Amino acid sequence: MNIPQSSLPRVVIIGGGFAGINLAKSLANKNVQVVLIDKRNYHTFQPLLYQVSSSGLEPDSIAYPLRKVIKKHNTTYFRLAEVEQILPDSNEIITSIGNLTYDFLVIATGTKTNYFGNKAIESNSMPMKSVPQALNIRSLILQNFEKAAIADSNEAREAFLNFVIVGAGPTGAELAGAIAELKNNILPRDYRDLDPDDMHIHLLEGADRVLPPMSKHASKKALKFLNKLGVKVHCNTFVKHYDGKTVTTNSDLVLESETLIWAAGVTGAPVQGLKAEAVLDRINRYNVNRFNQIEGYTNIFALGDIALMETETYPKGHPQVAQPAIQQGKLLGKNLLKLIDNKPMKPFVYRDKGSMATIGRNKAVVDLKHYKFGGFFAWFIWMFVHLMSLVGFRNRVIVLFNWVYNYINFDKAARLIIRPYKK
Ligand SMILES: Cc1cc2nc3c(=O)[nH]c(=O)nc-3n(C[C@H](O)[C@H](O)[C@H](O)COP(=O)(O)OP(=O)(O)OC[C@H]3O[C@@H](n4cnc5c(N)ncnc54)[C@H](O)[C@@H]3O)c2cc1C
Repeated sequence: MNIPQSSLPRVVIIGGGFAGINLAKSLANKNVQVVLIDKRNYHTFQPLLYQVSSSGLEPDSIAYPLRKVIKKHNTTYFRLAEVEQILPDSNEIITSIGNLTYDFLVIATGTKTNYFGNKAIESNSMPMKSVPQALNIRSLILQNFEKAAIADSNEAREAFLNFVIVGAGPTGAELAGAIAELKNNILPRDYRDLDPDDMHIHLLEGADRVLPPMSKHASKKALKFLNKLGVKVHCNTFVKHYDGKTVTTNSDLVLESETLIWAAGVTGAPVQGLKAEAVLDRINRYNVNRFNQIEGYTNIFALGDIALMETETYPKGHPQVAQPAIQQGKLLGKNLLKLIDNKPMKPFVYRDKGSMATIGRNKAVVDLKHYKFGGFFAWFIWMFVHLMSLVGFRNRVIVLFNWVYNYINFDKAARLIIRPYKK
């Protein structure tokens, strides 16, 4: 892998997500050699993927080159590779570009889409976990509009204009709102040969309310916003089958649709090779202690979405959102330096900064510890927080410009089928 030998201890980080880059930053120019490995050469700001899917943003404004993240880190190296296996007995990893030894290994590989074993849904639905997948959704939506415009029957047109989103967590609810804005603001202007009333957005949720991870107050408000935008919400509804044309559910609801977007859950993306007790079976997350050390190992750690740390306050682990990943990454950097200096490490304590979701223009919900609110102010806070959390000044400026432009013009400018999607 062409990493120079060094007298410094080598920390290998697998994954340049929120956890991985914050760890890399906290080890920058310290007495360690850091090797950051990712199968992509960029960091993805997943919270805004839905805006790429719905033509609101171009992907380069939410992705950031990992080599740029470490450009001033003198003892840090980046390698574009997929890590395939860990050999803990020889402190080594096997990757798609060769093997590498480590003194400390940190696994920050995040999650992948969970289809709960349903192969038909896996092959026929659209996931939204990465930039290429978000671009696939964007292309498919726009291709469907074009096909609807030339459809020779009402049934065919309806199927192209029926959008089914499964999972009304923040991702599904945000995407449903954004597609509804395409219907309300773009369809009447760009597709005068289509009737916007023929377009339907169905949001299906297995729980009894939208935004199940958030407060009831947020769910109620979000439902109101979704209804206002024209999204048809179906709670207590599980998808049983989808063959690419027909969606069947646990109820009488059957929908004809060319598009089913699957936002119903994630599962861990662990790397093979560790002892069985290291990975918790059902959820595929690594079992870690308060220092993010994986059960059974002293020099292998897991961070962020892939790590499950049971604490009194979070007996089922921390929520799989950006903040735990960021905070764990920052702390582990300090702890690794302490471990190397034979000093005691500091246990991780999660500082919950609240949660939020946006449903559309002027419509968002925010849950803080002692205060829950929704509407324009929540939407403003949502925009500010997301803007400030983006990696890179250029990305922030571009996103801000796009948002202001879209707000003034009721527009979504990235309505381009650059890479057609083939079903
Ligand atoms: C659509 C969507 C919307 C979201 N919205 C929000 C939100 O609004 N707010 C919020 O707080 N959270 C949100 N989240 C969750 C948040 O993005 C995750 O909690 C966060 O990204 C976790 O960070 P991480 O570093 O653990 O993993 P990730 O950010 O997923 O990073 C994992 C990295 O590991 C790499 N990788 C994986 N396997 C390998 C391998 N074998 N070899 C090499 N590299 C590998 C991947 O390429 C990736 O870069 C959202 C997630 C999604 C998918």
